[in-house]
Amino acid sequence: MINVFLVGAGPGDPELLTLKAYRLIHEADVILYDSLADQRIVRMARKGARKIDVGKRCGKHSASQAEICKLLVAHARTGAKVVRLKGGDPMVFGRATEEMAALAAANIDFEIIPGITAATAAAASLKLSLTKRGVARSLHFLTGHGAEGGLPAHDWVSLTKSGGTLVVYMGAQTLPGLASHFIESGMDPNMPALAVENASLATQRTIFGSIASLPQKLIRAATTGPTLVMIGEALTPEDVTEAVTKTREKLHAL
Ligand code: SAH
Repeated sequence: MINVFLVGAGPGDPELLTLKAYRLIHEADVILYDSLADQRIVRMARKGARKIDVGKRCGKHSASQAEICKLLVAHARTGAKVVRLKGGDPMVFGRATEEMAALAAANIDFEIIPGITAATAAAASLKLSLTKRGVARSLHFLTGHGAEGGLPAHDWVSLTKSGGTLVVYMGAQTLPGLASHFIESGMDPNMPALAVENASLATQRTIFGSIASLPQKLIRAATTGPTLVMIGEALTPEDVTEAVTKTREKLHAL
């Protein structure tokens, strides 16, 4: 019987949990959760369940990835039903590789429960399709944060040439550098670009601009929540619905 589950908590809105995630959170004896996992979801745990915050937010103390792996294995060994709750989807920039390897090395079987990733949650809330026939034929999920802290070594020219929609996770801090790389690689400075903070939550904010203007606008917006950056022709403001346009006008004033 499998007792360990790496569970996608989705982007924040508890209603975006899968039924499987919902059931497992209720059944768990131990829940190890990230700071990205919404508190309303963590509180779905049954009475008496152990809820362990292994949160990772810049600046605050948080468990290292090695410590998380150790904790996960230690709890799994007791035979308890363990849910490792991760924001979005565990397999998208979720450090699942390390945790799966630690479990496998300890001979512990596990299951992965997918979740709604930030990109699709943001697209849904903006009513913007990330792919578009004849316009955006590919979709790329990138990290904006290299392993050593700075910009990752992406193939900027290929990404620019692809003409696809680029979705940057963990890219709010490094956006000025990212934007320069794309423009130097031949991207039109007017290429639509937007940032979505707290996608799917009541506190969601969207900042619209171009690849040239978005970095400054994002700094002025002083986001504090998780923020996704999206770049591409498919994100032209004309495609944004009327309701969203209103928010955009408000935010344009920033
Ligand atoms: N596994 C997660 C991603 C983790 S990486 C997923 O599938 O969504 C963390 C990054 O995800 C953040 O820096 C941010 O870029 C993005 N992110 C996660 N949740 C978000 C949300 N609700 N709104 C906007 N961006 C989000």
